[in-house]
Amino acid sequence: MNRRRFSKLVIPLVATSLLAIGCTGGSGGARAGNPAATSPGQDGQAPAPDYVVSTQVSGAYQTIMGLPLVRQGLDHIQRDHERTIDEQIAISEIPAAPFQEDRRGADYLRRLTELGLDNVRRDSVGNVYGVRRGTGDGPTIFISAHLDTVFPPETDVSVTQKDGKLYGPGVGDDARGLAALLSVVRAFQETAIQTRGDIIFGGTVGEEGLGDLRGVKTFFSENKDVDGFITIEPGDAEGVTYQATGSRRYEISFPGPGGHSFGDFGRPSSISAMGRAIAAISEIRPPADPKTTFTVGVVKGGTSVNSIAGDATMQVDMRSNDPDALKKLEEQLLPMAQAGADTENARWNAPADGRITVKTELVGDRPAGDQDLHSPIVEASYAAAAELGLPAKLGAPSSNDANLPISLGIPAVRLGGGGQAENTHSFTDEEWFDPKDAHLGPQRIFLTALGLAGVSGPEPVSPLLLSR
Ligand SMILES: [Zn+2]
Repeated sequence: MNRRRFSKLVIPLVATSLLAIGCTGGSGGARAGNPAATSPGQDGQAPAPDYVVSTQVSGAYQTIMGLPLVRQGLDHIQRDHERTIDEQIAISEIPAAPFQEDRRGADYLRRLTELGLDNVRRDSVGNVYGVRRGTGDGPTIFISAHLDTVFPPETDVSVTQKDGKLYGPGVGDDARGLAALLSVVRAFQETAIQTRGDIIFGGTVGEEGLGDLRGVKTFFSENKDVDGFITIEPGDAEGVTYQATGSRRYEISFPGPGGHSFGDFGRPSSISAMGRAIAAISEIRPPADPKTTFTVGVVKGGTSVNSIAGDATMQVDMRSNDPDALKKLEEQLLPMAQAGADTENARWNAPADGRITVKTELVGDRPAGDQDLHSPIVEASYAAAAELGLPAKLGAPSSNDANLPISLGIPAVRLGGGGQAENTHSFTDEEWFDPKDAHLGPQRIFLTALGLAGVSGPEPVSPLLLSR
């Protein structure tokens, strides 16, 4: 166990262009270089600011690490490793396609109930959660992992093992998060550590793709008194992701009169209208900083080679780390659809009842957001990793369940469930999970939760988060 003191802990934070989007696997963020180094600028990197945890947070962690019950909790999680892996496999083998999380949700609800949480319930959209009560003089923390996967219902979700690794769709994303969370709950229950704030533990629906964060959106609309949030996603126990990449997704269609390519020549074409729009969209030059992006990801339309197309549809994805930049991009891009239709109608001098029109539907809305690099939840997550002897690091912006609370001003981070997950979301390369040292994931989340909620008893620890 690393016993460095944070007042002396100085770690270079290396700026990075890496951008983790969605709940992709891997390290969960940017490498922060050699943690032992105190002189930034080595390795050819530009000088970077040093990240130093405040004395308040380092002091809290000195006390926490000195508590025998905390040691017991960490030991329990380490001994719990095999059981947690077994649960990860069992959970992963329950299909949980987008919008079809019910079976896995029911199973998870049972597991949370068996762990003795209070008031375990399933809400109107399918989130399942229960609460572990504190003494009532601390903040309320919500810790969750997501129930859904990206894989359609017909996918074979059986898990196989080879060379110590687990293979299966969703085994890392987010069956690992769900299993790691159960191990954290067990550490709390076995040690009977009394926190000051309540901790809600659960699984959310709708994190992936067109699920559009409907689980956390519902949770935070129904639970206004939650002060902090941790989402457990694939990744090691070192990274802290605290910035939210926002996205807006649209399906834009161009219905028109259509007709025969020869007999009806002279009518406007839905495909040509959309093509004009795409040509204009392709010329947009969004800012590199804050990173802002767009793509026309899917196009569909037409009926046959000898027809004037009477329908055409495209799906557009826009992303940014900055809400204003995202809004500006959207305000620039969306009118290009109507302009494409207008130009096509004018080209053929189309009559009022024979024009291409435009229908725009918002199909995805994940809010962007930022928070202070030195907010207590970021520092606590960082300090908890360092206390485990790990090279703590701040990760690149990402898109996950934490987007929603971050956009609401509620402190939130994405932390890794431990181990190594690769090929997440892949339909061609099999997703795999390496459980080596995976217990470090739940250990770090256990420590982070203790700091945020505070500890009651003869050596009390003040909560690092404030109640709202
Ligand atoms: Zn995920």
